Amino acid sequence: VGSRAPLADDEQPTSDLRPRVVVKNAAEICVPQPDGRGVDRLKKHALAIADGAVTWLGPESALPASESEGSEVFDAEGYAVLPALVDCHTHLVYGGDRVLDFVRRAKGMSYTEIAAEGGGIHTTVRATRSASDEDLFETAHERLLLRRAHGIATTEIKSGYGLSIKDELRMLEVIEALRHAGFDLESTLLAAHTVPKDIERDAYVGQIIDVLIPSVAERRLARFVDVFVEKGAYTLEEARRIFEAGKKHGLLSRIHADQLTAGGGAELAASIGAVSADHLEHISDQGIDDLARAHVVGTLLPGALTYLGEESQRLGRRLVDRGVEIAVATDENPGTSPTSNLPLMATLACARMGLDADEALRAITLGAAHALGRDDIGTLKVGAKGAFLLIEHADSRALVASYGEPIICDTYGF
Ligand SMILES: [Zn+2]
Repeated sequence: VGSRAPLADDEQPTSDLRPRVVVKNAAEICVPQPDGRGVDRLKKHALAIADGAVTWLGPESALPASESEGSEVFDAEGYAVLPALVDCHTHLVYGGDRVLDFVRRAKGMSYTEIAAEGGGIHTTVRATRSASDEDLFETAHERLLLRRAHGIATTEIKSGYGLSIKDELRMLEVIEALRHAGFDLESTLLAAHTVPKDIERDAYVGQIIDVLIPSVAERRLARFVDVFVEKGAYTLEEARRIFEAGKKHGLLSRIHADQLTAGGGAELAASIGAVSADHLEHISDQGIDDLARAHVVGTLLPGALTYLGEESQRLGRRLVDRGVEIAVATDENPGTSPTSNLPLMATLACARMGLDADEALRAITLGAAHALGRDDIGTLKVGAKGAFLLIEHADSRALVASYGEPIICDTYGF
């Protein structure tokens, strides 16, 4: 075992474009089970990558000459190799911060009291609207670079701090510019995040349906449309109308459901065929069964739960045991989960939501990929994107056990 130092937060893993590489001397290669709940930890295996995709995976002793000839060797030095991580739920384009919200909440103030003092989500809406395009780009760019040190190669980003036609489009344009800067991003129109204060709500829902969705779809600014279904946010009926409009224009649905109250969001996700239903802290038993039957991925956000000081009643365990495929994401946003540390979220999903370590590993790789409707990432099977990370331990599960400490010592193909 060599002496690779873990990457510091501000250190850039090199972006490798070597055309052909063979990974050798791995203690194990972690491959999420396509239909199972966990991962396979393959010992004495090798991995070949050509032109950015996995071309071979098997016992190192059986590596064909056709794969190794002319390839560079990536020496894993007895460490574990895992697929690059996927974060399927973030709000990381925003202006300002919400430090004062945290300070107030830590003093015991309620959401309503914080809002009455001028805090809450509308703080971020104001700061985002008044930030320049360049500021929004630069701050999000820094957040994305930090994510590479946490092993994340693919990130979903939502709009939702614009709350007007102009500012929602502007957020999606910033995401598009970040994609052109070389990040693997998925973008989501979340115009129905909270209800704007400067327009009547029916008129705004009308704008989302009649203007935003058609123009976002036509300009291909997002693949998904999302709605925050909650008391004080949007109703089931409004959400259904927005998702139907999205469908008509080819946008896939994802939903913020049952975070604060059991509001029927999971049941709606199943009935409209959403790819993912997220949060779910107050999901009903009926909602769980509906998600399982409709093959909607349940996305757990243990960072928000923990930051807000709430309890989950072993939500992850309940979902898995009733047959729901799950993902774990950061929910990176300034108000309720200002973190990009996805491995730490996997730790919290075990400690606070009842997952086991194998399930948590799958949830930040292939489960998250499925929550984005993709099967080319979050795995190292043949044909998948050739992006992986190396951790300073022989057991893949150390990534989850490490409690957010920097254990990732190299990345490839990001
Ligand atoms: Zn969210």
